[in-house]
Amino acid sequence: MATAEAKIHLSEFTNEPFVDFSKPENRKAMEDALKKVASEFGREYPMYIAGQKVITMQKRPSTNPSHPSQVLGIFQEATADHANQAVEAAYKAFDTWKQVPPETRVEILLRASDIIRKRKFEISAWLCYEVGKSWAEADADTAETIDFLEFYCREMLRLAGPQPVTPMKGEKNYLTYIPLGVGAVIPPWNFPAAIAAGMTAAALVTGNTVVLKPSEESPLVASKVVEIFYEAGVPKESLNFLTGPGETAGDALVKHPKTRFIAFTGSKEVGLLISENASKKVPGQIWIKRTVLEMGGKDSIIVDDEGDLDSAVEGVVLSAFGYQGQKCSACSRAIVSEKIYDTFVEKLVQRTKKIAVGPSEDPANYMGPVVSDTAMKTIFGYIDVGKREGKLLLGGERAPGDGYFVQPTIIADVSPKARIAQEEVFGPFLAVIKAKDFDNALEIANGTEFGLTGAVYSRNPAKLEKARESFHVGNLYLNRKCTGAMVGAHPFGGFNMSGTDSKTGGKDYLLLFLQGKTVAEKIAS
Ligand code: NAD
Repeated sequence: MATAEAKIHLSEFTNEPFVDFSKPENRKAMEDALKKVASEFGREYPMYIAGQKVITMQKRPSTNPSHPSQVLGIFQEATADHANQAVEAAYKAFDTWKQVPPETRVEILLRASDIIRKRKFEISAWLCYEVGKSWAEADADTAETIDFLEFYCREMLRLAGPQPVTPMKGEKNYLTYIPLGVGAVIPPWNFPAAIAAGMTAAALVTGNTVVLKPSEESPLVASKVVEIFYEAGVPKESLNFLTGPGETAGDALVKHPKTRFIAFTGSKEVGLLISENASKKVPGQIWIKRTVLEMGGKDSIIVDDEGDLDSAVEGVVLSAFGYQGQKCSACSRAIVSEKIYDTFVEKLVQRTKKIAVGPSEDPANYMGPVVSDTAMKTIFGYIDVGKREGKLLLGGERAPGDGYFVQPTIIADVSPKARIAQEEVFGPFLAVIKAKDFDNALEIANGTEFGLTGAVYSRNPAKLEKARESFHVGNLYLNRKCTGAMVGAHPFGGFNMSGTDSKTGGKDYLLLFLQGKTVAEKIAS
């Protein structure tokens, strides 16, 4: 079945265009969506195990970080028992789902992509409310969700077709890719549509069954994604859905003997714990669990004295403060040549002062809230450390409003070994570091345990070549910002403690959800 030539033909993949909010009709569509979605605040959402709706005694609200007293939805609180039931259900469903032809699985997931495209503004409105994304950031998350679905469907057709093997006289040989089994899909909250849908779609389109457990911060967006997958035709038994704590429900998914693989995106600490737990064989387990672990970053932009200073300032500001610095790819260190350091810092502060902070449903605000009270406290903890480790140039306080608003914060004159130059902060927080020369800048950039994204602003081709060779990050950008990876164009994933470099949105990604089977048949002579 898997060797059959794909029977459906799709146009070449192209990225979903971003919405142009300068057009009045698009502004109106987003305003209408925000109103419509607001009329649905407070509803209760079930979990799904073995095709059945599951309600628990314990509940957890999802609230709006721009207005924390606003309850967006009520969610169930899964226990380890629920997780175990969900893995058993997914295991049972695997026998059926793996036999569904790849073309049919592709058709179903393309239908999901169509539904999301039609309901684009609504999904973006939920993203605005649940995790504090500005209109443009929410739209980018929704567009990336569509991109992942479209890209992985095309890749599945390629992998379902004949695979090249060296011909051998007297034998008929071929290689097919078959699914692995039950996948625990554990995404973070910061791209609650794109990452949850992307990892889930990759697992499903390759013929695996899934238990999806989203972050405690973003169950609502995940529920919407799951509802759309069901509406598109994904059997409920093949996609089980749990909401609840990572430490109990997530942990049980990872440790279950019938879990075959774990697709995780989140922090370094949890990623390492999952790696450790998944490596321990438990009674009844008959495979080595595969882990796809995409983790944190401490991403740098090098500003060279031969670079375009104004572009560099713009690139650093957008990378550091876009979505409140809550992207794994966010620039958290500007490493600046000493020759231009003072001018750069002056321009950086002036540009950052122009950023408006406030409720994310209001398009006038470039920055919304950070995701939670806990996140805000962690960020202020780092601001205190930063005041001791460097010079506070801007920010460092809450911004007005009842939401979790943090001013964009810049700390200058930071030592490369300072805590704020080494640890992921995950907020609107930038450390500025002085470099003696370009080699020193590269050394500082490579001097953390992470290796996710990085950028260099320089007009000198020799320096750019050096960066290409020795800036050790999974995603390197030259003369542009270090955020905003596009599916297909910029396969994404990091080195070292940033993860297993799975390259989401790239041609190698689906292989992580498959295993190759070779069949060699002697031909009668
Ligand atoms: P997190 O690690 O706190 O949580 C991620 C997920 O893991 C959540 O669903 C959570 O419930 C679950 N979890 C927590 N403890 C668990 C356990 N013991 N066992 C199993 N699951 C458990 O991360 P977060 O705060 O949601 O997300 C932010 C982090 O994600 C940042 O570090 C960011 O850099 C990283 N991130 C990385 C990428 C990437 O592609 N490399 C992309 C986005 C975010």
